[in-house]
Amino acid sequence: MQTLCGTLLEPRAADDCVVTPSSTVRIDADGRIAETGTGRPPAKGAFGGDGCWILPGFVDAHLHLPQWDRRGIDGLPLFDWHETVVYPAEARCADPIVAERVAEDFVTGMIANGTTTVAAFGSPFAAAAERAFSVFARRGLRAIFGMILNDVNCPAELCQETDRALDESRALAAKWHGAEHGRLGYAFSPRTPLCCTEKLMRGAAALAEMFNCTVQTHVAESQAGAAAVRESFPDLIDDVDVFAEVGLLTPRTLLGHGVFLNQQQRRQVAESGTAVVHCPTANLFLESGLMDYVAHRSAGIRIALGSSIAGGHDPFMPHVAVECLQTARTLKVHAIPRGLHPVPTPAEVWWLLTRGGAEALGLGTRVGVIAAGFEADLLVVRPEPWIGELPPAQQPSALLYTLRPDQIEHVFIRGQRVGP
Ligand SMILES: [Zn+2]
Repeated sequence: MQTLCGTLLEPRAADDCVVTPSSTVRIDADGRIAETGTGRPPAKGAFGGDGCWILPGFVDAHLHLPQWDRRGIDGLPLFDWHETVVYPAEARCADPIVAERVAEDFVTGMIANGTTTVAAFGSPFAAAAERAFSVFARRGLRAIFGMILNDVNCPAELCQETDRALDESRALAAKWHGAEHGRLGYAFSPRTPLCCTEKLMRGAAALAEMFNCTVQTHVAESQAGAAAVRESFPDLIDDVDVFAEVGLLTPRTLLGHGVFLNQQQRRQVAESGTAVVHCPTANLFLESGLMDYVAHRSAGIRIALGSSIAGGHDPFMPHVAVECLQTARTLKVHAIPRGLHPVPTPAEVWWLLTRGGAEALGLGTRVGVIAAGFEADLLVVRPEPWIGELPPAQQPSALLYTLRPDQIEHVFIRGQRVGP
């Protein structure tokens, strides 16, 4: 039994973030939260204590493992950035030794930033995905992960043969989906509709359904991309239509970006139960556009947040959450009339970072909640002390805007201390 002590931050719903000082959380030998309480003196050997806060670990629902050490390369529009940064970063992972080293650095980086759950893309090499899963298994990260799929319109060194790519994905899913007591999951990962033949997308959809796996891909990220999809699939209206046609719009699907979804597409995505991963830092860094989070949520779409490494430069998820607020605020100040455009609250983005993100990934019954029976994916942080002296209603906001990665003292995943 391990005990954590401090002020508890519980994002219970989009409009309900509860702060409880002088709390304790006990973790059982199975890695689950056994009980929570208040007012007890810190147990000897407890983690945290005075000045510490206990938070659910952060969920990063869209990022690319091979791009971990390619962050912050500025000045390139989306398509040039793929040629110059993304493809070479993936191509080097044809060497499994390189792939394993990048995976190790990636996990170290995630844990140092308080991210306990990722949904991440790999390179198009099965041996690299195998190495990455082995690293996740050993290091304790909670990961939904998959080899990226592309069999057309991509560089020769990354282009897969369709049947082989599906066979390799199937073998990886059979081995890793649900492994480590469900801490690992497989994601069939078609890169974009432009880089995949219909056969590859239909095959990925069928296998994902068979294994009950996640599907992750990109949608409506840039105007140029959306136009290219219309040219490639003249019988269909847009990329949402393409995904619907090939069976990739499902409640197990994560659509990255979704900047240019119109109202009809929002309805289509919401009705299918598909989640959109909002990547506000990347949408700005690559000058793709400003996603209208409020419109997406109002349409009933399930939403998580993603760092979109390395399209986004910052792996620290509270910064991504702040950018979600700033993007909504930018849309608001440019809207006419200005007063009609709401901005989400800090409580809502705390929820997106934790419980809401977990729910979008289909993990809502396992993590994201600090309550008995949930798996203990928890952070102990030591923020600036004045935050605890503010009126309680101001504390979640101040914590969101000022917390730093170097204030993370302990990271627990499934009850195991994994860092930093
Ligand atoms: Zn991406």
